[in-house]
Amino acid sequence: MERRSWAEPYRVKVVEPLKMTTRAEREQAIAEAGYNTFLLRSDDVYIDLLTDSGTAAMSDRQWAALMVGDEAYAGSRSYYRLEETVRAVYGYEELVPTHQGRGAEHLLSQILISPGDVVPGNMYFTTTRFHQEYAGGQFTDVIIDEAHEPDSLHPFKGNIDLDKLAAVIDAHGAERIPYVSFETNVNMAGGQPASMANIRAVHQLCQRHGIPVMLDATRALENAWFIQQREEGFADWSIAAILREICDHSEGATVSSKKDNLVNIGGFLALRDPELARRARALLVAFEGLQTYGGMAGRDMEALATGIEEMVATDDHVGARVGQVEYLGDLLLKAGVPIVRPVGGHGVFLDARRICAHLPQEHFPAQALAAAIYVDSGVRGMERGIVSAGRDPETGDHKRPRLELVRLTLPRRVYTQAHLDVTAESIASVAAEAERIGGLELVYEPPELRFFQARFQPLAA
Ligand SMILES: *Cc1c(COP(=O)(O)O)cnc(C)c1O
Repeated sequence: MERRSWAEPYRVKVVEPLKMTTRAEREQAIAEAGYNTFLLRSDDVYIDLLTDSGTAAMSDRQWAALMVGDEAYAGSRSYYRLEETVRAVYGYEELVPTHQGRGAEHLLSQILISPGDVVPGNMYFTTTRFHQEYAGGQFTDVIIDEAHEPDSLHPFKGNIDLDKLAAVIDAHGAERIPYVSFETNVNMAGGQPASMANIRAVHQLCQRHGIPVMLDATRALENAWFIQQREEGFADWSIAAILREICDHSEGATVSSKKDNLVNIGGFLALRDPELARRARALLVAFEGLQTYGGMAGRDMEALATGIEEMVATDDHVGARVGQVEYLGDLLLKAGVPIVRPVGGHGVFLDARRICAHLPQEHFPAQALAAAIYVDSGVRGMERGIVSAGRDPETGDHKRPRLELVRLTLPRRVYTQAHLDVTAESIASVAAEAERIGGLELVYEPPELRFFQARFQPLAA
C-alpha cells in the first residue's frame, strides 16, 4: 500500500508572533554576534533550529496541569503522580527526580563509578562523558564503525558492536566495568537508533558477566519509532510496547525530559534496585533537592507526567515528530543539498565540507555556512565541525574532525510544514551559490567548549 502523508495529531490554540527582519538587519545582527549563531538574540531569529532541548510546545493539558501542581516541600502529590507515570511507561520502580538530564548523570556516575573504572558506551554525549570522567571513570566507545560514516545507510547506526564490547570486558575484567552506558537514538551520531536485537544481545552479554546496563533513555521514544518502522517483527507493536521492551533490557536509565518528554525543563534517574536508589537519594538531597522534587517545582512535575503520557498516548505523535524531520531531509535531498543519511530522529545535518568545497577546514566552512543561512532567511542552525571539536591539548592545534556539519534541529510541535518549506528553499539557494560564501577567522576563543562563545570575522578577500 502506498504510504500517505502524515499530518500533525494536534491543532494550534495559541500563537507566538515572530519578528520578521530584513537582510540588512540580519547582516548587522550576525556581525554583532561574531558570526556565531549561539550569540544571536533569539528576537532576531525567524525559525530557530539551534536545538530541540527544552524547546517543545506544551499542550493545553500540560498548561492546565501546571495549575494543579502541589508545591509542598516534602511529599508532593505531583511527585507521586510522576512516579506512577514513570512506572507505567518506562517500567522502573524507583524514581529519582532531577533538574535535567545532567543532574541524573551526575548521580548515576557518583554512585556506580570508582576511580580507574572503564565505562563502555555507544558514542559519547558531552555531559554523560563529563560525569563519567568526573567520577574517575574512563569512557570507551563501543559503537559500530558505521556510526562514524556519513554515507553509510545502515538502519541502526546507534548499535553497540558486540565484539568491541566483549573485547573491553576481556581486557579490563567485568569487575572494572560498573555498567554499560547505552544511549538510545544516539544524539552525536545524528539521532541514530539501536535495534531491539542489539539491545537484547547487549543485555544478554552483560548479564553473563554481571554488568548492569544503564540506558540514556532521553530519546528512547524516537528510537522506538525507528524499531517499529525498520525492524522485522515490530510493525504491529505499539510505540508504548516497544519503549517498554527497550527499558526491560536495562537496570536503570537517565532521562533529560527536555527532549522526548515534551517539557521545557526537568529530568530523572530511574532504577530497579531499591538499594541503589537509596544511595542516589542520599546524594540527591545535597545536589538537587529533596527526594520528592529533585530540582523541579511541583508544577514542572505535573507538566512532565502529562508530557510522558502524551508522548505514548498514540503512535501518531512520534510519527509526526520524526515525519517532520524526514520531510525537511527529503526536501533538501530533492534539491541536491548533501546531508548526512539516513536522516535521524531530531534533526538534519548539512555536509558543509561538500557544500563549501572551496573553503579549507581552517576557514571554518560550517560556521560560515550557518551564518550565511541566517543572513539569507533568519533560520538559525549551528556548527558541528572544527569549531565544536576544539583543540588538541597536547599540540594546541585545531582537532580536525572528519565531519564538518551544520545541524538543523527541530523543536517538537513548534513549526509548521510551511516553515520547513521556507527553511529548505533558503538552504537550497544558499547552497547553489555557495562559492560566494567567504571563509572566517577567529578573533576570540574561550579555553573550554569554544563553540558557545567564539567570535569570528570574515577573512580579508
Ligand atoms: C540533552 C541530552 C543529555 C543532557 O541532558 P540535559 O537535560 O541537557 O542536562 C543527555 N543525553 C542526551 C542523549 C541528550 O540529548
